[in-house]
Amino acid sequence: MDPLSKAKVLGKAGKYDTCGFKQCEIKLNNGLGGIYHAKAEHKTCKIFKTLMGNNCSQDCKYCPNRNHGAKKKVAYKPGELARIFDYLNKNMDVSGLFLSSGVGSDPDKETERMIEAVKLVRKNGFKRYVHFKVLPGTSYDMIKRAAEVSNRMSINIEAPNKSIMNELSDTKEFKTDILRRQSWIKKLSLSGGQSTQVILNNLSTDKEVLRMMKWEYDEMDLRRFYYSRFRPVKGTPLENEEEQPMIRQNRLYNVDFLYRCYDFKMNEFNSIMDDGMLPKEDPKLVLAREYFDSPVDVNECSYEELIRIPGIGPQTAKRLYYCKRKIKKAEDLRKLGARIKMARPFIEIDGKRQMSLMEF
Ligand code: SF4
Repeated sequence: MDPLSKAKVLGKAGKYDTCGFKQCEIKLNNGLGGIYHAKAEHKTCKIFKTLMGNNCSQDCKYCPNRNHGAKKKVAYKPGELARIFDYLNKNMDVSGLFLSSGVGSDPDKETERMIEAVKLVRKNGFKRYVHFKVLPGTSYDMIKRAAEVSNRMSINIEAPNKSIMNELSDTKEFKTDILRRQSWIKKLSLSGGQSTQVILNNLSTDKEVLRMMKWEYDEMDLRRFYYSRFRPVKGTPLENEEEQPMIRQNRLYNVDFLYRCYDFKMNEFNSIMDDGMLPKEDPKLVLAREYFDSPVDVNECSYEELIRIPGIGPQTAKRLYYCKRKIKKAEDLRKLGARIKMARPFIEIDGKRQMSLMEF
């Protein structure tokens, strides 16, 4: 198979790995997949997301490549991937490579090929972002070598605990294949750190997912924890399972953001869950209704109160603090970045309520 045909298959196969909170695939006329506008931490860039090969000896029940079962078995030679990426970098302004792979028959051998490809990419003069996906079961030495050519690494935990992982795979061992590898990546202190991804399915509750999220941020120094809702793939053992709603994924991202950037405590979210699941409404709004007895004056309340007001984020709260709270009208607040419609029910400006009590 020629390299462009391989790129079409392997670029599309890379879609199951998340490369940002918001990612949007760019459709090309020639059918090449895998190029995304990815937005993370307020930056947007073009990333080429691909597998090195789609052959895999693992047996994850949700994956079309399981048990060497890919319909068309395809693998790049390292030089082919480097050439394709060089072309995308020079002609399409693609500024990041996100490289994953099926495990093949041996994770170390597949990782060796991935390292070789990234080395060639670097040899072509590319100095920017390379995200290297660590394959379950890869040895420490290979991970260390991969870290030398990468900015960020990740290994997907997929499940929030061992028992759910056991439901999804008979071959992947949660503690040794995944968590032990994460602790090795942590030891390597990469400039871009490490991230991971969990699949949201019917087997796990939001509470279990969030408990794991907290543990990962606390113990593994994780940069980002990504949430990927389950969507059944034809021909897999889970093809008849229910697709998970986008709202579940969005609410978990909301909580993740509140935990990392607003300093909300995890037990606050537990208090608004029903049967281990988050409400469908924005969790910040639900918590604000519990927290505030009455509207607060934006010129007088504390920073801790400010960031709990829906529509006011940490940046706006800081700007408000530094502008010495000279807010005279809602428009002044909007200019500082607040989303007035959301904030109105919870605020007073110069002693004046912004909505009637009935609307609070
Ligand atoms: S390890 Fe990855 S490629 Fe292999 S079966 Fe599991 S999800 Fe699929």
